Amino acid sequence: MIVSGARPTGRLHLGNWHGALKNWVRLQHEHECFFFVADWHALTTAWEDPVGIDESTIEMVLDWLAVGLDPDRCTIFQQSAVKEHAELFLLLGMVTPVPWLERNPTYKEQRDQLLERDLSTLGFLAYPVLQAADVLIYKATAVPVGVDQAPHIELAREIARRFNTTYRPLFPEPQTLLTETPKILGTDGRKMSKSYGNAVYLTEPPEDVDRKLSRMVTDPRRARRTDPGEPADCPAYLSFHRTYSTPEELRWQEEGCRTASIGCLECKKVTIAHVLAELEPFRARRARLTPDDARAVLAAGNARARQVAGETMAEVRAAVGLA
Ligand code: SF4
Repeated sequence: MIVSGARPTGRLHLGNWHGALKNWVRLQHEHECFFFVADWHALTTAWEDPVGIDESTIEMVLDWLAVGLDPDRCTIFQQSAVKEHAELFLLLGMVTPVPWLERNPTYKEQRDQLLERDLSTLGFLAYPVLQAADVLIYKATAVPVGVDQAPHIELAREIARRFNTTYRPLFPEPQTLLTETPKILGTDGRKMSKSYGNAVYLTEPPEDVDRKLSRMVTDPRRARRTDPGEPADCPAYLSFHRTYSTPEELRWQEEGCRTASIGCLECKKVTIAHVLAELEPFRARRARLTPDDARAVLAAGNARARQVAGETMAEVRAAVGLA
């Protein structure tokens, strides 16, 4: 059983696709998978300004369906619709020592970085316990995550171990499923992020994708068409050319760049054609979907998730003496 979730961020971009979704689409053909909208998690950092969570949830689920997540092959649900997550979070909180949470590297990092937000809350400190509940409640054996989330899965394993030895062995220890993913940079060369305004969205019109990628920053040495450049110093090369171009195209791009025999736009157009070809089916599927489709998928997924989570909670309550 594989479980993974994502905060509701609305429309998804190429960074989301390569960072997680592409992997999810593959995994649904190989394992039983539960994918959820982590709307309670959104509140751990945005508790003061929760506007738009519902809308972002629907937008994100529509994008999940557009890229090929298939509700007949995986369960798609909303965390807050399955209250059992909160009950297990509470009970796991009883066995989790606070120092385990305080030493979590993401906790320290985010508190230092998100200075404009008040993160001195119990909800923020304890969110890895909620994450542990999210996966343990389905008895997940593996969780696909990025490297930065790996310490949370380690923590989920430690919490599961403590529960299992204190009461009875109920939970498998979930393994971290680390997948090599290309690092997709935004059009300004920074990490692709909606908040930086540098994102290329999965279902935006092809002319917008073309325009954004055509203007993406390149090696600054190539100020003029006749100046040679170095692909290793070009954000467009590092994230897009390397991900999308064929080996022959890459050789042509590298040589053309170093000898200034091609211009940056000429170079990028080769890659852009591949990006557009990949996105076209997503855009076509998305155009046929309505918010009601997302709601129907969530309603069915929530019911299925509640059933499985309910069975686990009956065991958990018995284990802790609350049956
Ligand atoms: S020619 Fe291609 S690889 Fe070289 S800087 Fe321009 S876009 Fe980047």
